[in-house]
This record gives sequence, C-alpha cells and structure tokens, in this order.
Amino acid sequence: MVKVTLAEKAKIERSGTSGQGIDHYGGAFPRGMTPKDFTEILEELGRESAFYGGVPYSNLTRIYRQYANGYWAIEELEKLGVTMRWTDGEFRPIKNFGGGSPFLRVHWVNVKPEMAAGVRKRGVNVLDRTMIVDFLTNNGAVVGATAVNSRTGEFIVIRTKAIVVATGMFARCYNPEQPCPGRYKFRYHCCPAAVSGDGGAMAYRAGAELSNMEQARRRGGTNDDLTISFGNFINEGIPAKALTWDGEEISFIGTQGAAKLDEMELKGRGPFYMSLEDVPDDFHKRIEVCYADERLLSFKIAQDRGFNPRKHWFQRVGNRCTILHAQPGISADGDFKTTLKGLYAAGDCVAGSHDVANAATAGFLVGDSIRTYVNGAAEPVIDEAQVESQKETALAPLAVKDGTDPMELEMSVRGLCDQYVCPNRGEGTLREGLRRMGSLRRVFLPQLMAKNPHYLMRALEVRNIMEMAEAHMRACLERRETRGYHFRRDYPEADPKWEGMLTYQRLENGKPVLEMRKQAPIALPDDHKEER
Ligand SMILES: Cc1cc2nc3c(=O)[nH]c(=O)nc-3n(C[C@H](O)[C@H](O)[C@H](O)COP(=O)(O)OP(=O)(O)OC[C@H]3O[C@@H](n4cnc5c(N)ncnc54)[C@H](O)[C@@H]3O)c2cc1C
Repeated sequence: MVKVTLAEKAKIERSGTSGQGIDHYGGAFPRGMTPKDFTEILEELGRESAFYGGVPYSNLTRIYRQYANGYWAIEELEKLGVTMRWTDGEFRPIKNFGGGSPFLRVHWVNVKPEMAAGVRKRGVNVLDRTMIVDFLTNNGAVVGATAVNSRTGEFIVIRTKAIVVATGMFARCYNPEQPCPGRYKFRYHCCPAAVSGDGGAMAYRAGAELSNMEQARRRGGTNDDLTISFGNFINEGIPAKALTWDGEEISFIGTQGAAKLDEMELKGRGPFYMSLEDVPDDFHKRIEVCYADERLLSFKIAQDRGFNPRKHWFQRVGNRCTILHAQPGISADGDFKTTLKGLYAAGDCVAGSHDVANAATAGFLVGDSIRTYVNGAAEPVIDEAQVESQKETALAPLAVKDGTDPMELEMSVRGLCDQYVCPNRGEGTLREGLRRMGSLRRVFLPQLMAKNPHYLMRALEVRNIMEMAEAHMRACLERRETRGYHFRRDYPEADPKWEGMLTYQRLENGKPVLEMRKQAPIALPDDHKEER
C-alpha cells in the first residue's frame, strides 16, 4: 500500500479549474483502441484541428494511453463516487464540438465535492491551504517538497520518495479575458489560483524539462464569459455566427483563424463577435444546461447586467494571448515520468494534456508507475542546507516592510507580456521583453512584501509566474516560424525545417538550456491494447 499526501493551496472540495463544475468528458474513445487506430484518428483530424493544436504532441505514447483508458477511468471515477450517468442511469454521448475526441455529456456541478469525498474516504492525508513552494532533491532525484500554509504561514517540509505534480495550466503572465479593475484582475476563464504555473516553475527550477512553451492560445475565449462556455459556441454541429463589429458574417475556425483575424483587425473590422441569435430554441436550452453545470452564478450576473444570451453578441477576445493551454507544460513520458527522477506529472500542467478526461485518466494511471518506482526507491535523504535555502526564499516576503505588493508586480509582468510577447511577437520585441523581465526579477522580486500568509502565497505565485513567463519568451524567441498557436510577426509562415519538432527547456547549473527535438512515435506495438 502506498501512503499518499495531497497538498492543495485552496481546499479540495472546490479547488481548481473544474471547481465550479464541468459539462463534458472528452475521452470517450472506444475501448480496445490500438496505437494504429489512434494514429489514424489523428491523421484524419489533421494537424490543424483544435484537438491536435497544430503542433506535435510532446509524448504520443502518453496521449495514446490517456485516451485509450478513457472509458476505464470513467469506471474508476464512478467507484470514487463521481456521478457519470444521468437520472435514467445511462451515459449521454454527444457529437464532438470541433475538438476531435468523442464526448460524454456529464452533469457535473458537484464533481469536486464528490471526488474530494472519495479521496478522503480512501485515507489520503489531505493538506488543504498548503502551497508547495519548491521540490527537494538529492543526487538527482526528488526527495520531498517544502510548503507554506496560506492561513498560518507555517513552513512545512514533506519527505517523500515520489511526487506527482498536478497543479493546472498556466495563464497569469497575460491579462484575463475580462480586464476589470480592482479584484476583477482575477476574472480568468480558468480558476486563477490554478493558473499561476506553480508546478511548471517548481519542476523547471528542480531540473525537469518543459516543452512546447511557445504555444499560447490566442483569440480563444470571449470577453463576455457569461452564460455560455467557449467550447459550446459550436455544439453538436450547430455553430454560432461569427461577426465583424458591423455585422458581416465571417468564418475563422481552426488554427489559421487568428492570422485571418489579424488581417481584418488591421483593416478596422474588429472587434469580432459570436452571436446565438439564429440558433434554435432547443439549442439555447441545451447550452443553458451546459452552463448551469459549469457556472450557475454567471446567469445571475448576466441578468443583473441586462445581458441576454439569446439576443446580445459575445465579444471575442481580441488579438492577444490568454492561456498556455493544451500543448505547453511539463514534459512527461508514457508512464507520466518527468525528466527528474521521482517526479511525475498529470493533468493540465503536462505538455499535451488538457481537460478532465486526460487529467482523470493520468491521475489513475500514474498510480501504477509510482507504486513500481516507490517499491524500489531508496529512503529519501533530505539535504538540510537546501531546506534552509528554500525556507529563506519562501518566508522572505513576510519580513519586507514598505516593499512591492505582489499584485503590482504581477500586473507589470502581464503588461510586459501583453506588450512584448503577444500580439507583437518578433525578434526585437522578445529580446527587449526578456531584458525587461530580467530587470523586473532582479529589482522587484527581492522587494516583494506579504502583509499576511495569504499574500505570501500571492508573492510566491508571482515568482512562479515570472519563471514561466521567461521560459515562454525564450521558446517564442527560439521558434522562428508560425505554427499552431505560436506565431511570429517576422516569420509569418511555417518553416518546413521545424515540422514535427518540439522545444524542450531545462535549467542546467542555473542556466537556461533550450533544444529542439523531433517528436518520437508511439513506443508501443501497432496492435497493442491497454488491458484494463
Ligand atoms: C469554465 C470551464 C469549463 C470547463 N469545462 C470542461 C469540461 O466540460 N470538460 C473538460 O474535460 N474540461 C473542462 N474544463 C477544463 C478542466 O477544468 C481542466 O482541464 C481540469 O480541471 C484540469 O485538471 P487538473 O487537475 O490538471 O488541474 P486543476 O483542476 O486546475 O487543479 C490544479 C490544482 O492544483 C492546485 N495548485 C496549484 N498550484 C499549487 C501549489 N503550488 N501547491 C498546492 N496546490 C496547488 C490548484 O489550487 C488546483 O486545485 C473547463 C475549464 C473551465 C475553466
């Protein structure tokens, strides 16, 4: 039996990006899918499909395993107490909405409380309000982690043979979809606490590799993130209308859409909108159910603002990046191992992994890999000097008086990325952006001030945001072409020499190293079947 401790910087009952609820499960691939079947599906979808993201997946073996076990994970979720079926006891398959993988409609307002109850019942040692700050390593392997409690400020040392990092995706180097003053600086489509890139930054600092970090999603989402989730604008084959500001109908589906919109925006045709005016009443009812599953409160907010989803247009996010989603993240192999011994990764923080089905499947599968590793691993020996150094970094902001507020520094980073990385992405802007980021880090990180343990968490998040933003900029600089979600103003076309290539980044003796490597094929026989 493996003893498990779960550290969560919020509270597991409602934390993370699916905290408010979820409306679909996207990994309902047929049981028995072989690598050959999967490759054919990918080929059929084409490299430009949203599913494929326009760039190679960082580890096809892992992606294959995640999808091939999608149905098995459904059964495991049910055992954990998550309700997958509708009131008649049946599953609800739906046609995909432009993504590629087969979906089940799920009525998952309470997915997190249900999962949390299952986790607690299984005897997992849950540390709520506990932010992991850094990983502890010894002789090239993970031996533990340090953390702070965001309510008490207590510094915690965790000794362990293995860690699974599952901290969500990264977005907070860019402004949210809905830029609003004051506390609405956090009005992200995703849970803001889960998109500060902590896991990626910690893994990178500890020596693990990141991959595809140049791929930041542009033009995804709407500024009016009310009453409909972005994915549902094309649902069961019924598309919403896409319009210029003055009502001309346009089409911009697929990864080439952004370039087309750039062109039109320069001609003064933006902003662009989505309209649901012409879709049937039945469709409205269905998307209302979907949204009730995900953000019930938003209906009330929309109503208070006089926003009528059946009549009013939804403004699309303009020509800027919002999230590093789906393709970028921590590099992990077919067994969810990162390049650092003892460190595993699952869910949205992993390169090429996105959505609940991938996160859930990975979460279950990683248990097998960990068990084998832990049984053969030596007892972890902690380097006390490393603990002291991490403690000093972690608690430093509590001692600073009259310093820099974490949110102010974060806003500077977001401003910097909006100005130099997206949408104006070229050799000169990226170099200048990196120079300025370096200076922000040097001058303001040491001045970060935390008036209480909650702000300490914010300060430590900014440190991670800067780490990840810098890795993002370096990858953008290196990839001198336009491909997938990555674009360069000075290299507007795809360069054949980068076909099938991915960026990999790591720190070696504190120095950033970036390599381009070719995507490896699935490392399993063509007719392999996952036996679950
Ligand atoms: C509105 C909305 C609707 C969505 N709908 C769907 C859908 O219908 N179907 C679907 O498949 N996907 C959907 N998604 C995406 C889905 O929610 C995510 O893919 C999924 O939640 C990823 O799970 P995860 O566990 O990897 O990350 P998360 O759910 O983001 O969880 C990461 C957790 O790590 C914690 N954490 C982060 N850093 C630290 C740290 N340093 N120390 C301790 N804890 C930390 C966070 O607090 C968080 O709880 C939706 C997303 C949004 C925003």
